[in-house]
Amino acid sequence: MTFDDITEAQYITLLFECEKWVNNYDLTYMDVYGHNEFDSSKSCPNLDIEQFRSDLRDLIFQIKYFTL
Ligand SMILES: [Zn+2]
Repeated sequence: MTFDDITEAQYITLLFECEKWVNNYDLTYMDVYGHNEFDSSKSCPNLDIEQFRSDLRDLIFQIKYFTL
C-alpha cells in the first residue's frame, strides 16, 4: 500500500478510531465509507477504501479474539 496523502501513522490512527466507532455504535467494518463513495467529485479520504475496510476488519478481529 502506498501512503500518498496520509502517513502510515495517520492510517493506523484512523483504523483505531474507526474501530472505536464501530464498537461504540454497534456497526461493522462495512458501515465505514469514504466521502468519495457518496460524491465522486470528492477525493477524500485519499486512500484505497476497500483496502482500508479490509484492514479494519482484520484489526477488529485481532482486538476481539487476541486481546487479553
Ligand atoms: Zn471528505
